[in-house]
Amino acid sequence: MDTTPIYDITPFTALDYPEHLAAIFWFAGCNMRCSYCYNPDIVLGEGSISHGQVLDFLKRRRGMLEGVVLSGGEATLYAGLSELCQGIKTLGYKIKLDTNGANPTMLLELLEKGVLDYVALDYKAPRQKFQAITKNKHFDYFSLSLNELLKRDVAFEVRTTVCSELLSVEDINHIIHDLSKRGYKGKYYLQHYIEDTPHLGRMKKQKQQFETEKLSAQLDIVWR
Ligand code: SF4
Repeated sequence: MDTTPIYDITPFTALDYPEHLAAIFWFAGCNMRCSYCYNPDIVLGEGSISHGQVLDFLKRRRGMLEGVVLSGGEATLYAGLSELCQGIKTLGYKIKLDTNGANPTMLLELLEKGVLDYVALDYKAPRQKFQAITKNKHFDYFSLSLNELLKRDVAFEVRTTVCSELLSVEDINHIIHDLSKRGYKGKYYLQHYIEDTPHLGRMKKQKQQFETEKLSAQLDIVWR
């Protein structure tokens, strides 16, 4: 098992965990390679902070923080994540997991242990574009993660990064239709692609206009 899975810690955020003050743990490595990713150092880098150091950090922050965000990279790739979450819960913190859904085995383990309070799931692209955008061929794994979240009593949100050179309004409407068909009733968060930052892959300047007025009204859409 990786003994230092965490690349970095953001000690305080009021923005990344809905309604909670939190710290963010950035896990090194990812099972996807989205070209628009703006965390290339974390995705390609190695961790330097151990499980034990994270718990020590949280012991010192008791009373100052309410929750933690497990982000990255992809936190579910850390084989000791379930154990780490149990340690975090024992200290009294709420846990939000940011995940791309491509490791349903770990997600299921965390859900079954009841250690997650909130999950933000990336719906990267419709099946037909999933591999081209993520360089990961396992849309079915993502699909399984989504279905598991839908059938359990855990708060979660679905979100998509919208880069108009990669995803069209039709693609987003396809996702909205799929989510509605599966019974998702929450808000659907569309995230603006950040142009002015280093990316994991080569990105073209966005030229295509994204026609937001053509988005389906089947779900409540929130841009951020
Ligand atoms: S944007 Fe893609 S490559 Fe970057 S961390 Fe998220 S899933 Fe991994």
